[in-house]
Amino acid sequence: MADQLIRATAAEGGIRAVGVIATRLTEEARQRHQLSYVATAALGRTMSAGLLLASNMKRAESRVNIRIKGNGPLDGILVDAGLDGTVRGYVDNPSVELPPNSRGKLDVGGAVGNDGYLYVVRDVGYGYPYTSTVELVSGEIGDDISHYLVTSEQTPSALVLGVFVGSEGVQAAGGILIQVLPKAATDETLVQTLESRVTALSGFTPLLQAGKTLPEIFEQLLGDMGLEILPETQLVRFHCGCTFDRMLGALKMLGEAELQDMIEKDDGAEATCHFCGTVYQASSAQLNQLIVDLQSEASAK
Ligand SMILES: [Zn+2]
Repeated sequence: MADQLIRATAAEGGIRAVGVIATRLTEEARQRHQLSYVATAALGRTMSAGLLLASNMKRAESRVNIRIKGNGPLDGILVDAGLDGTVRGYVDNPSVELPPNSRGKLDVGGAVGNDGYLYVVRDVGYGYPYTSTVELVSGEIGDDISHYLVTSEQTPSALVLGVFVGSEGVQAAGGILIQVLPKAATDETLVQTLESRVTALSGFTPLLQAGKTLPEIFEQLLGDMGLEILPETQLVRFHCGCTFDRMLGALKMLGEAELQDMIEKDDGAEATCHFCGTVYQASSAQLNQLIVDLQSEASAK
């Protein structure tokens, strides 16, 4: 099934649900960054969460950045997701591998660590991003994002994220976010019912692997609550907006002395985009041009 995002409502608009299938884009991230099993799970969960969080924003250019910084060996995760369905991301130590946890699952919590912070930056498209920070709960990412939604956004939320990685790569990835909106948030039983239903799912990837579609999963969770599935299926994908020109712009900011040093020592520069792993090469001639540009900008001041 193609990577996709589907939205729904229930309880006469009191409940908002969104589901994402991120299998292919997680596999693309795995290949681009040569991620270990546990790093694939960690990044896939965070990218799925990013797409889910971005899905309720308003302006087309809106984006969400999720930064997770824990005390585990993975060190950190950064994901950038947009309402447009694009997502990119990386982990600081992609080769970390850990034995399975006590439940026989990939030990994402152990890799991320349960001591640290989750930062969520919402850029609504007006140039004034909102940043929220919460402490990590377990490092399992789903718990941590739920904690953020409840404490920072004050929205009762049930979230399930999952990534299943086999020897052939990513077999299933994605998640579901169900939120109780302010008009219904005082309905304690509604909130509890949703939480217990999502908990009873026993994970997201088993449903995908059993061949369930997102509408069928919504039906299972919200079918008796006036479920309305929005007709649009949005395609989602791994995409990085980096270009050779942007890389040159970043090199230019290093300044004249540093550029001169690169020309003399390395006869050019090589830069790798953290987000997508693309390697860019700049020749000495191109670095020299940057120096000329810097000098003419300085003399124009
Ligand atoms: Zn890139």
